[in-house]
Amino acid sequence: MSVSPVQPDPSVIGGVPKAPFALMPKLARLFNDRASRFEALAQSSHLAAYLNFLAGITRIQSELVSALPPPEPVRADRVERARANAMPPIDRAAMGSSPDCREVLRQFFEKAEALEKPAAASEALAQVRTADEEMLTWMIGNVMADDLPVESLAHHLYVAAAMQIHAARLAAGLDGSRLVPIRVGVCPACGGRPVASMVIGFHGAEGARYASCSCCATMWNEVRVKCLACGSTKGIGYRAVETGDEEATVKAEVCDTCNSWMKILYQNKNPSLDVVADDVASLGLDLLMKDTEYKRAGFDPFLMGY
Ligand SMILES: [Zn+2]
Ligand SMILES: [Zn+2]
Repeated sequence: MSVSPVQPDPSVIGGVPKAPFALMPKLARLFNDRASRFEALAQSSHLAAYLNFLAGITRIQSELVSALPPPEPVRADRVERARANAMPPIDRAAMGSSPDCREVLRQFFEKAEALEKPAAASEALAQVRTADEEMLTWMIGNVMADDLPVESLAHHLYVAAAMQIHAARLAAGLDGSRLVPIRVGVCPACGGRPVASMVIGFHGAEGARYASCSCCATMWNEVRVKCLACGSTKGIGYRAVETGDEEATVKAEVCDTCNSWMKILYQNKNPSLDVVADDVASLGLDLLMKDTEYKRAGFDPFLMGY
């Protein structure tokens, strides 16, 4: 019997593990962990009612993501063509009209009925559930364009949450190693915009930063100090809400080149941070930044209108 020599790990270069470019969503945990985080944050927040409502929304996402039959996967030749042309393989324009996607929407809206919510949110849901094809297509189009009309944010929240389920299921079926960078601030899987970025703490990529897609939950690697709106690495600064002696685990990365800002979360300092739940719960930072000349670049359908 011969013993093969130990092969060096190809992802380790010069003793430092190389962070993978893309991390695909893990469906079994993504929404479940997020719902738990919303619930935990609600316990000590003045936004408790809203955070608990979003915990309920996220629990439904968690149920449906595994309960439904798998969606038709993105075809391999499409993935390779997208890779060759530096395009995202998921067809953003078409995904909302697939029968798989419409079934997710229908079931999500039905389950959302049971959530405790204010009258306005109930009324919005009733209108979404009974929307005709033209209206539904319009709302899906707004969500896919990351452009939600202020007068119907409550309606779009449900559509966006349902689309997140479908998009995450499509993304989870992709091989992350076949994805390539598209442009700054653009998801390499679906072309969506990031909610925020996160410095992660897990093994093999400690201290690496990942932007997190607001639509399909794919995370992609970015250098630590860089504006994710315009790509500048110069004129970058950090702001945070005063937290006494402790260093803030959510900061605003501000860019003097394009005058925008995006949240950066330090999951390496607090492993329970979730990019969406902690984005909503750190609304205080948005209020602080509102009084500055910088414009929010992170996109989160759960945190619109503030
Ligand atoms: Zn995406
Ligand atoms: Zn910038």
